[in-house]
Amino acid sequence: MSVIKQSFGTTGNGLPASLYVIDNGKSQISVTDYGATLVSVVVPDRNGVMADVALGFDSVTGYETSNYQGATVGPYCNRIAGGKFSIDGAEYDLVRNENGVTNLHSGGELTRRLWTAEVFSEDDMIRFSISREDSVNGYPGNMDLSVTYKLADPATVIITYGASADRKTFINLTNHSYFNLGGFDSGSIEGTLLKICADRFTPVDENSIPTGELLDVAGTPFDFTSLHAIGERINDENEQLALTGGYDHNYAIRYWDGSFREAAFACDPVSGRTLTVLTTLPGVQFYAGNFLKGTPGKEGKPMTRRSGFCLETQYYPDTPNHPDFPQCLYDENKTYSSVTSFCFGHLTD
Ligand code: BGC
Repeated sequence: MSVIKQSFGTTGNGLPASLYVIDNGKSQISVTDYGATLVSVVVPDRNGVMADVALGFDSVTGYETSNYQGATVGPYCNRIAGGKFSIDGAEYDLVRNENGVTNLHSGGELTRRLWTAEVFSEDDMIRFSISREDSVNGYPGNMDLSVTYKLADPATVIITYGASADRKTFINLTNHSYFNLGGFDSGSIEGTLLKICADRFTPVDENSIPTGELLDVAGTPFDFTSLHAIGERINDENEQLALTGGYDHNYAIRYWDGSFREAAFACDPVSGRTLTVLTTLPGVQFYAGNFLKGTPGKEGKPMTRRSGFCLETQYYPDTPNHPDFPQCLYDENKTYSSVTSFCFGHLTD
């Protein structure tokens, strides 16, 4: 058990970033205070060979213009239609940072900031906290937020979120890790087998905004109720896949009731590494890394299209504009909390 703090370079504004390495003797993770980001996850394969299965960068610099690799995203992750919603008749107009049309990942507000770290060595745990001010990027509410990473024996990353606001506002936090169970530099994830614990997903329009329907996955390329390779049907002729260039959709987790339950399972048949995702949240965005464009990442290796997949646990996208979706409205009397864990393992021969 140990937590070691080291330098992670300096931001463009001249601020020092730190990297915290947590090692429990069986696995190792590292997190940075920049964006409360999960930087690396080093876990064994079926032969005990260790590899880092998280895409990312070697220093803070890459994270300043990242595609949200490993980051904490909020106060509202995913998209808000037209960058607009209203609460009790008051309309809020947010920055439209995606093609001037939608608000995506709150314009990177919490991702592109330094958080304050508190180390709990005995527990293999780090807590990051931050305050945000009302109206940044048009988003309502002063808030205090925290994200805790704990490495549990032997190889489980438990992420616990908390947030409180001083007025009625929506809160939707996620972790945006891109995983490749063969190792960050092992190429396409299309051979990775995936199961998602969901019978329905939220189809989207041309701006990747949910139409409001919940569609059955049965009989479509979106059916991951049993294991399928990510690449098996990703290039099928399908209107939803065409709109997003591959999987980039929110799934409605089966039997959601706020308790901690399995959302998804992934397995790389080559290395044998597995990942089980558990969460208290109602949705999970399965994103196949379709928009990765070969930007150099760790060790200068290019992060090519579909070389990492994301399972972003969350409230559904654009919830503020869909009263029928599970709601994530909080206020001074109701605080936000959620837990998501990424549990790594491996097949045995
Ligand atoms: C979105 C993708 C987007 C990625 C990086 C995901 O949550 O669904 O469309 O490209 O984040 O911003």
